[in-house]
Amino acid sequence: MNYETVIGLETHIELATKSKLFCACATTFGVDANENICPACMGMPGMTAVTNYHAVTLGIAAALVTNSEIAATMTFDKKSYFYPDLPGGYQITQMFAPICRNGWLDIKTATATRRITLKQIHIEEDAGKLVHDIVAGATLVDFNRASVPLAEIVTNPDFRSAEEVVAYLEKLRSLLSFAGISDCKMQEGSMRCDVNISVRKVGDVTFGTRTEIKNMNSLRAITRAIEYESERHIDALESGSNELIQETRRWDDGKGITVAMRDKEDAADYRYFPNPELLPITISDEWIDSVRASLPESAEAKYTRMTTQMGLSDYDSRIITGSRALSQIFDETLRDFSKPKDVVNWIMVELLSVAKGDNKGEDDISIDSKKFAKLISLVDQGVINRTIGKEILVKILADDIDPEKYIAAHGLASITDSSFITRLIDEVMSEYAASVAEYLGGNEKAYGFLVGQVMRKAERKADPKTVNEMLRAELKRRAN
Ligand code: ADP
Ligand code: MG
Ligand code: ZN
Repeated sequence: MNYETVIGLETHIELATKSKLFCACATTFGVDANENICPACMGMPGMTAVTNYHAVTLGIAAALVTNSEIAATMTFDKKSYFYPDLPGGYQITQMFAPICRNGWLDIKTATATRRITLKQIHIEEDAGKLVHDIVAGATLVDFNRASVPLAEIVTNPDFRSAEEVVAYLEKLRSLLSFAGISDCKMQEGSMRCDVNISVRKVGDVTFGTRTEIKNMNSLRAITRAIEYESERHIDALESGSNELIQETRRWDDGKGITVAMRDKEDAADYRYFPNPELLPITISDEWIDSVRASLPESAEAKYTRMTTQMGLSDYDSRIITGSRALSQIFDETLRDFSKPKDVVNWIMVELLSVAKGDNKGEDDISIDSKKFAKLISLVDQGVINRTIGKEILVKILADDIDPEKYIAAHGLASITDSSFITRLIDEVMSEYAASVAEYLGGNEKAYGFLVGQVMRKAERKADPKTVNEMLRAELKRRAN
């Protein structure tokens, strides 16, 4: 029997605000437990919520980059449930009038371009976090994350493979991080996914029973979970056992299996109702227009500009536009040094390798683009050679040095005076006469040694190309 897998995603992204959704506490990641808290985000009785205007602005931006229909008026509702990380007993979310509906985005896989449609995006607050393994026998609770603003992006069940899901998440991450809506770091939990899966026989028009795998935060794990879970569904259908029920499951990455967590709740279980403290928010056309005007160039538009107008390669353009940080470095550097090929080359070869050495991801790289542009232009003009240029790049990244001052202070400018290089070559020829003889006797290895000695005498400041040309010429003269 031929089955197809049907998948729908609910993706949570953390909105990039400085403060929380309904109080003034900071949203900074990685601080001590319970550093960013107040009675409101701890859910103390009688506290009043105040909506963060910037979070709604970012929600509008998310609606715009996903081609969604924005609500004229949106509301916030209470979703009631008990959990120790939610002492107020309810989460503020959007049930009845979410910020937008009916968006879409196009994804590309190896075989096709497909349109994925979105059911809706809603804004909601995050809950706190339980910490189980610090004190033996006890569970602690950290409220730093409580009330951090999230947007939940809900697709229709449009995906038919893990590959499509990965392409969608990459596209979403690029759109949202470019527009500054969220940094979308899966490893830090600022982008996480609930994956809904069912299978059906090819040709069937109705969907099968679905299960939901909660809180996935790596593309690799998502791919493995989809493959495992769809096999499990097919096996259950084929064997005729009635074990397939609508339920919530968890992915166990170590074992490579999904495990049942709980039966699927119904909306009625949560007793959703409008939050009487928060008035409906009207989203005016002026508000939408001003958000639209503030959006930067999209990754797609930039990619097209790089590959067509600038003649850059598909690979380089994809890497640069795949990261907001690299894109910004590229744009800003280009303002001061206008050769795109050189800038891309310095980013792809030198900057990325230094970052890799420092264990930094592409989006964690930052550099003063004025100094970076200056450095590239000094190498371009031959003031310093590329090897010294790389050393200076490391210094800019580590100590924020000024390249010109550093070159002057350390006497690193290239030696272009050919009579000086001639003198060094003569010295090496007489000091290493044996190697010269070996070379002339046909041992090419001796040549590398001789070049190395000249460069050493020049303290690596000579232009290697000039040294090579002059040394070859001198050896040739002696061979005759
Ligand atoms: P609920 O209201 O129960 O949460 P939704 O309609 O909001 O259900 O759907 C939740 C998610 O599940 C959506 O991403 C949707 O695309 C997906 N989904 C719904 N039905 C199926 C199905 N049969 N197979 C796979 N995914 C599904
Ligand atoms: Mg849902
Ligand atoms: Zn607070």
